[in-house]
Amino acid sequence: LALHPRRGGPKNLPIAEAFIDDDVSKSKPRLVILGGGWGGVALLKELNPDDYNVTVISPANYFLFTPMLPSATVGTLELRSLVEPIRRILSRVHGHFIRAKAEDVEFSEKLVEVSQLDHTGKEVRFYVPYDKLVVAVGSSTNPHGVKGLENAFFLKDINDARMIRNKVIQNLELACLPTTTDDERKRLLSFVVSGGGPTGVEFAAELFDLLNEDLTRHFPRLLRNEISVHIIQSRGHILNTYDETVSKYAEERFNRDQIEVLTNSRVKEVQPDKIIFSQKQEDGSVLTKELPIGFCLWSTGVSPTSLSQKLAKKLGDVQTNRHALETDTHLRLNGAPLGDVYAIGDCSTVQNNVAESIVTFLRNLAWKRGIEPEKLQLHFSDWRTVAQDVKKRFPQAVNHLKRLDKLFFEFDKDQSGTLDFGELRELLNQIDSKLTSLPATAQRAHQQGSYLAHKFNKMARISDAMLANDIRDGDLDAAIYKAFEYRHLGSLAYIGNSAVFDLGDGWSMAGGLWAVYAWRSVYFAQSVSFRTRSLMAMDWMKRGLFGRDLVA
Ligand code: FAD
Ligand code: MG
Ligand code: MG
Ligand code: MG
Ligand code: MG
Repeated sequence: LALHPRRGGPKNLPIAEAFIDDDVSKSKPRLVILGGGWGGVALLKELNPDDYNVTVISPANYFLFTPMLPSATVGTLELRSLVEPIRRILSRVHGHFIRAKAEDVEFSEKLVEVSQLDHTGKEVRFYVPYDKLVVAVGSSTNPHGVKGLENAFFLKDINDARMIRNKVIQNLELACLPTTTDDERKRLLSFVVSGGGPTGVEFAAELFDLLNEDLTRHFPRLLRNEISVHIIQSRGHILNTYDETVSKYAEERFNRDQIEVLTNSRVKEVQPDKIIFSQKQEDGSVLTKELPIGFCLWSTGVSPTSLSQKLAKKLGDVQTNRHALETDTHLRLNGAPLGDVYAIGDCSTVQNNVAESIVTFLRNLAWKRGIEPEKLQLHFSDWRTVAQDVKKRFPQAVNHLKRLDKLFFEFDKDQSGTLDFGELRELLNQIDSKLTSLPATAQRAHQQGSYLAHKFNKMARISDAMLANDIRDGDLDAAIYKAFEYRHLGSLAYIGNSAVFDLGDGWSMAGGLWAVYAWRSVYFAQSVSFRTRSLMAMDWMKRGLFGRDLVA
């Protein structure tokens, strides 16, 4: 920071101008990126090196390769293999890094308010000015208002993985003490996962592998039947955002592996030594049950960060989604001055995509039939074609075609077997709220980051003369670049020496060891650097040869 920085903004804080502009040409637009996760890093990777004055602000000075985080909790992979320094990634674009937390954005003055603890432990605050701002701050863990979560572990960050690893090993050692009673040993070795999504499922699978592969070798005193792994899931199936075949395969597999899957169950409270939950029975009644716990992982989905919540509130009525910041299809934050602020990744959602794409489809259909859209009568077979198209574009939103089938009959109010214009309008009005939007995945964040990089690269090439001539209404994004379109490349989850795939177009594979290698190679390819790739390969080799390092 400059010695005598200019102060300003609503709070009259120092403005970190000198920092941003040091010896780089001041004419370049200042691009500020909040967050160094999947979204931010994808943007950095594909941005032309010299078009922007780039600054990344993030409390973490590393990028974290999250898909492999469950592996790190049990020592299959080393923690350091999963992180890559942000400064290393930034050097290609000659960017700056500020290790701090974004607290607020002053949209009218184009300032980000930033906080950090200084060397004396005192909080300092300052503003970082931007010309373009990208919000890519991800999400936080969803507490669902459950009591006693201080007794549970989370899995979001590298520190979480470290704490889990230590706890698992500590429990195994305690269980081996000659003074430990049988009951106490059973409790120490009872591992409960709350949440049947990919993270919870993968953690359970990794844990199971550990218990099977290394335990008999290194902890001969522990009996396999004293160890238990349980997954508590609120829905009827685990991996319920995946295709049905995939979640069935995973359940059968877990069944065989003696991992207990408790479906239709809601956690009420986590106590230091037990978890209390209610389970809906087949006859509709609800029973309260409990399990002893030596360890409990809480992985029941995500909620907005405090920054996202603050920005949504500030932007007012245009931000109606309680779960994420809404953008238009060009990824511009709704309600912020057009073209200044973008939001990508887990913290964001693109508004009105599904309904818009159905409208386009219907217009084309009417045009093909040579009639006005108002005269359109949609048969169930037509709807099926719409549904296929929607499922292809929004696979995560519409994972089961049955949901769309149901909508047809629900909105055919007069039960004529066709949807008329009025019925269609009703359906479209509701479809976006009925179907959740883009998935909170690395895949999506990556696509959005690289979309912005390509757009920003193009923007930097547009001369002022072109600007003045061609783009009079100020909608530069729409004038020079296409809208964002999500392409689903399939999802996969690791479930214990095999992997399940959901490729989104109706066919899913599940299989043996070959699937694990396919799974690993997919993540190799997505991985950001050769360094990360090599480190992971070495870890896997090491584990194959010597087993896991069970020290903490
Ligand atoms: P993140 O990658 O979370 O990055 C957010 C960044 O913002 C971080 O650097 C954070 O430090 C920073 N930040 C937070 N608050 C602030 C602030 N106030 N100011 C500045 N910076 C801030 N997805 C898949 O597609 N496949 C998988 O197999 C998969 N497995 C996963 C396993 C685990 C254990 C977890 C936790 C997630 C997994 N995901 C997976 C999801 C995937 O990690 C996320 O969807 C992805 O990280 C989202 O990218 P993002 O850039 O939006 O956020
Ligand atoms: Mg990010
Ligand atoms: Mg990340
Ligand atoms: Mg994963
Ligand atoms: Mg009808």
